[in-house]
Amino acid sequence: MSETIETVSGVPALFGSNTFGDATQRERLPKSIYKELKQVKEGKKKLTPEVAEVVANTLKDWALEHGATHYTHWFQPLTGITAEKHDSFISPVGDGTVIMEFSGKELIQGEPDASSFPSGGLRATFEARGYTAWDTSSPAFLKSDESGVTLCIPTAFVGYHGQALDKKTALLRSMDALNIQAVRVLKALGNTTTNRVVTTVGPEQEYFLIDEDYFTQRPDLLLTGRTVLGALPAKGQELEDHYFGAIPDNVAGFMREFNEELWKLGITAKTQHNEVAPHQYEIAVIFDTSNVSADQNQLVMETLRKVATHHGLAGLIHEKPFAGVNGSGKHNNWSMGTDDGKNLLEPGKTPHENSQFLLFASAVVEAVDTYALLLRTAAGNPGNDHRLGANEAPPAIISIFLGSQLAEIFDALADGKEIKAKEGVKLELGSTSLPDLPKDLTDRNRTSPFAFTGNKFEFRMAPAGDSISGPNVVLNTAVAEILAQFADRLEKAGDKQSEVKKIIAESYKAHRKVVFNGNGYSHEWETEAEKRGLPNVKAWVDCIPELASEKSEKLFAKHKVLSKEELHSRVEIYLEKYAKTINIEAGVMIEMVKKNILPSALDWLTGLAGTVETLNAAKVPTSGAAKQLKEGGSLVEKSYGLLEKLESELFRVRELEDLHHRAKFFRTQIFSLMADLRKEVDALERILPADYYPYPTYEDMLFRF
Ligand code: ADP
Ligand code: MG
Repeated sequence: MSETIETVSGVPALFGSNTFGDATQRERLPKSIYKELKQVKEGKKKLTPEVAEVVANTLKDWALEHGATHYTHWFQPLTGITAEKHDSFISPVGDGTVIMEFSGKELIQGEPDASSFPSGGLRATFEARGYTAWDTSSPAFLKSDESGVTLCIPTAFVGYHGQALDKKTALLRSMDALNIQAVRVLKALGNTTTNRVVTTVGPEQEYFLIDEDYFTQRPDLLLTGRTVLGALPAKGQELEDHYFGAIPDNVAGFMREFNEELWKLGITAKTQHNEVAPHQYEIAVIFDTSNVSADQNQLVMETLRKVATHHGLAGLIHEKPFAGVNGSGKHNNWSMGTDDGKNLLEPGKTPHENSQFLLFASAVVEAVDTYALLLRTAAGNPGNDHRLGANEAPPAIISIFLGSQLAEIFDALADGKEIKAKEGVKLELGSTSLPDLPKDLTDRNRTSPFAFTGNKFEFRMAPAGDSISGPNVVLNTAVAEILAQFADRLEKAGDKQSEVKKIIAESYKAHRKVVFNGNGYSHEWETEAEKRGLPNVKAWVDCIPELASEKSEKLFAKHKVLSKEELHSRVEIYLEKYAKTINIEAGVMIEMVKKNILPSALDWLTGLAGTVETLNAAKVPTSGAAKQLKEGGSLVEKSYGLLEKLESELFRVRELEDLHHRAKFFRTQIFSLMADLRKEVDALERILPADYYPYPTYEDMLFRF
């Protein structure tokens, strides 16, 4: 487990050394079992106990050879983190000795004591059982820490009656839904070679690195992941000198180990660069099927935080660790691929491929427009409220960037006009091919929340610190629904190509209002979007109930992704999560202000008052110092006032029984009171002598390593 690039001669040998991936499976499993497992992974067969038994045994041998003593069913409860309960492989044989055992049954299903995971009322505590079931398509891997080496088996987590209690179950179901409908469309178009369509995702993860000492000295960072107080230094990110800048030494050391750890896990860490804000970075991995990517992104976040500590750093994956500088998001690059190797969002070389591409692309446009609010909700979390729709970040409006060329083609189709290709070639859909759409779109729009980038769409609203499953569940299911409608028409149509043309034209006409190629961060866009009737819900609490709206219920039930019950449970869990998060943040803020900042400011003021008095007695002019004293005194006084108000409102909100009211109250009262208090305390910080500010400042955290 302590291999490094040096000891194993290069990245290829290191890559995947801690995963039981396809190559290891092929090498280790009996041929027939390998073949059968492959079919199971592809959804063509059900897993039999016999196959599971052989796989379990092989997996155990492989894990033991790598020093594993324990195994765990690794899953993702709705809290957004990952969970695991470790069991050792030991099994007593009755004579005081043990052997190492692992059965097919233990591989396929586990039963964690799950009563403490949120179920949103789906599971009364008396039937607190939950089961974890092996996701065969995501490879098992080894994790090592002080406790030793553990074999981790990626699983889905469901309740006694099969209800989804995690992020993965719905994701897998949504992938099935899209597969069914996409294959229907392809078959209707005469495709005879594709049997399966999978959704693919390549997430780009943004994060900050700061000195670990600063991190541990700030209770807000430690307990909430973000600073609830802090004044911006004179130098912010205005100079934009950090973006793609040189990487400092300890960060470089971190990145090296980070990459190696990910490679061992078979995660294709590919690009790394500085982001816009000081000490903000990004890591991108190569895309994979959605469920594998979702699992791997969880590991990326976990590994990031762990490895950072080895270099005296703290990894921050919160959406907005620092006010006034860029926040962190996760870019969810998304597409659909066929089992015969085609990317359905790749404009093709032949006319047929092109019309098929336009059809699938227009399905995405229609899906995103129709279910924009759901998508926005799925990308929400308490942290993202500081980005989406806040004053310094992207708006909460979903719009699509297609690029001028693609938009022109769609417009022409919708309006029944001739499509003019760049070189002046006339385009008749279905008989002539499209011009080459530029992959590297020169006008690549960084302000669009949903951008077509040559052969995939990039959803940029996802929160940095959360699982990517939520947004992908919505995206997959919404596109599945539109594809289902297209398939209904195509299956009945006589002349398929002319029906394709009609579908695209009608769909785009009705949904082009969601397409916007301009600057998404401008104020004009907010006004324009309102005119177009696009939803713009700024607070996450206000859109959470949308998950259980009639429209949402209908969508998810039809495609068997989430039942009414499951949706309602999610609404409860998310409202609860919001309320709890703000409650903790407010609590931390009160502590910091009341116990440290204000007492320290009072010390300063007392000293200053004495100085002013002494100087006055000595007839030294003191108007400047007296002004400071007054200003400081007034800020302290205002802060005490707001502190008291915040405390009493917190007391009030905790009494509110109704969850919807409570969550909403946290947003309207507590959240805004916190902002008011922060304004005064940050102003105080700006005039406090450095010695009197009891915490590391923004300047320390962002500019001192
Ligand atoms: P490009 O420079 O061509 O835009 P990037 O390297 O920026 O590509 O890609 C960004 C992310 O998009 C990467 O994670 C990449 O793996 C991912 N990506 C590329 N193709 C696809 C696809 N077909 N489906 C999903 N993600 C993809
Ligand atoms: Mg990107």
